[in-house]
Amino acid sequence: MSALAGKDVAGEITFLARELKAPVIAATFSALGDQARAEGWSHEEYLAAVLGRQVASRVANGTRMRLSAARFPQIKTLEDFTFEHLPTAPRDIIAHLATTTFVARKENVVLLGPPGIGKTHLAIALAIKAAEAAYPVAFNSATGWITRLADAHEHGRLEVELRRLNRYRLIVIDEVGYLPFDAASAALFFQLIASRYETGSVIVTSNLAFSRWGETLGDDVVAAATIDRLVHHAHVIALDGDSYRTRAHRTGPPPAAPQTTN
Ligand code: ADP
Ligand code: MG
Repeated sequence: MSALAGKDVAGEITFLARELKAPVIAATFSALGDQARAEGWSHEEYLAAVLGRQVASRVANGTRMRLSAARFPQIKTLEDFTFEHLPTAPRDIIAHLATTTFVARKENVVLLGPPGIGKTHLAIALAIKAAEAAYPVAFNSATGWITRLADAHEHGRLEVELRRLNRYRLIVIDEVGYLPFDAASAALFFQLIASRYETGSVIVTSNLAFSRWGETLGDDVVAAATIDRLVHHAHVIALDGDSYRTRAHRTGPPPAAPQTTN
């Protein structure tokens, strides 16, 4: 005879689930119990189903929290990315990056190409994959990161802030090159890249080829040192083609046939 014979089993499960901080078990055990009886599941199958619901909910909550902590400007997914619009995109490399092994290996991704080509979209989409794979991620523009670090520097907390950023396994630095940096900003950008070197991944997007980073960083030596650390373990993807926005206009519905008026 079971130790619980004659007791309030449902109440006991609710109590135990609360002790375990597993509310999904409390919420699902009864309906799954009915289903298990109706479909003749074994005890082990029933237990696995109840625990599986609880774990699935934790995973979903974890991803949701990581996605909101990441501060993406928009949610853009790989599934929404139309490769037909970008025939030169290296699909196999992007598919490989989507497995997030580059994050496990602390490698970087550099997405280069003209405005509107889909760099930010791909950067967000890959970072979402990483968040789904349980890696803490954070997104900001290059100027956004610099502002944050300059603020920390002003308060004598730069080292602390850089170390804090290392809890993110992946950071996205969007739009390097749109706005030129002054010398102090360029130095902070170098420090950011250097502090991530072999400790965590970055995805960098830029409209400028590496040969022109000296212009945006205001100094060829700083640019060379930054690029050196960035690309040592990196997947560099140069995207080429038309802006997605412009292309969408051009491939829109054909203009209506002119009306003939007699
Ligand atoms: P970039 O960062 O290279 O300037 P974005 O990633 O911001 O370009 O892309 C511009 C807009 O076009 C975004 O809304 C993005 O979602 C969309 N877009 C770009 N390329 C594609 C694509 N191949 N498939 C679907 N949407 C795309
Ligand atoms: Mg962009």
